[in-house]
Amino acid sequence: MSQVAIGIDLGGTNLRAAVFAGLPDSADALLVHRESVGNDRSPAVIVERLGVLIPELLQRTERGGLRIPVGIGFAGMLRGHHGYVANSPNFGWHDVALGSMLQARLGERYDVGIYNDVNAITYGEFKLGAGIGASDILAIFVGTGIGAGAVCDNVLLQGANNTATELGHTKVVIEADARLCSCGLRGCVEAYVGGKLLQERARKDLDTWASSTAVDLAGGVQNVHPGHLDAAAAQGDDYALELYSEVSPMLGLAIANAVTLLNPGRLVLGGGVFSRTPVLRDHVLAAFEAAVNPPAREGLQIVEAELRDTGGLVGAALLASGH
Ligand SMILES: [Zn+2]
Repeated sequence: MSQVAIGIDLGGTNLRAAVFAGLPDSADALLVHRESVGNDRSPAVIVERLGVLIPELLQRTERGGLRIPVGIGFAGMLRGHHGYVANSPNFGWHDVALGSMLQARLGERYDVGIYNDVNAITYGEFKLGAGIGASDILAIFVGTGIGAGAVCDNVLLQGANNTATELGHTKVVIEADARLCSCGLRGCVEAYVGGKLLQERARKDLDTWASSTAVDLAGGVQNVHPGHLDAAAAQGDDYALELYSEVSPMLGLAIANAVTLLNPGRLVLGGGVFSRTPVLRDHVLAAFEAAVNPPAREGLQIVEAELRDTGGLVGAALLASGH
């Protein structure tokens, strides 16, 4: 019987967990659990909740074992490779030794590993999703923000400080009045094409000087989201098309530069915004095709992410298991 491993996705909204028994061959879980992160997000409270939840989940599967791998995909910027959280706007954390706190709480029966959430998703896709059979992949997720991960020569690219592949924070505008990003700097591609900031900008434009059929589709300016902008763009709406003609080349260029740099065999696309903005995606890919270095484009397959909600759970569990 194969060893069990636990995967956890600690995101801005939900805490999800799964117990796997078939890794590295199967992403099927014995059990999947989901709860809200809630408002009390201090490190001590989160660690205590995980400290209770993890043994409880294992008990429910009626599996035993020693040195059980527990991989956590965390929505935040890490520092180094020992589970140290440098900063997480989602949790309001700065300099939190999450890995060692949780390891101390759980004790020696468990082996805790902390990973960037997008890296965990990328690794899950690489091993058991859209990346199966490839040795080099680049995965890009356009949701609330823009995240990316890469596997080069079968190894997850994490970087010296564990902050590699932050594609969303690569700069695409350098003027002093470039748009402000959630990271605190200006001109990042996420400030233009990340779902949250794109939506905020569109609502502000439509509330002040612009008009668009997206407002009618949404039933009011305050409801407009990128899906409405995309439906408006599909109908030839001037505002939506103008906005797209400004921002989609920025993401297209960022992706093209990443592909030129890394030369992946497969480009995996996913994320909540990309899945409901087909027009934006077409514009981004057109800009990508125009800008990518042709030798890096040769043989590159562009595919959809496959694992959806479970990618991060599978990936974190695989990484913690050493697979
Ligand atoms: Zn940024």
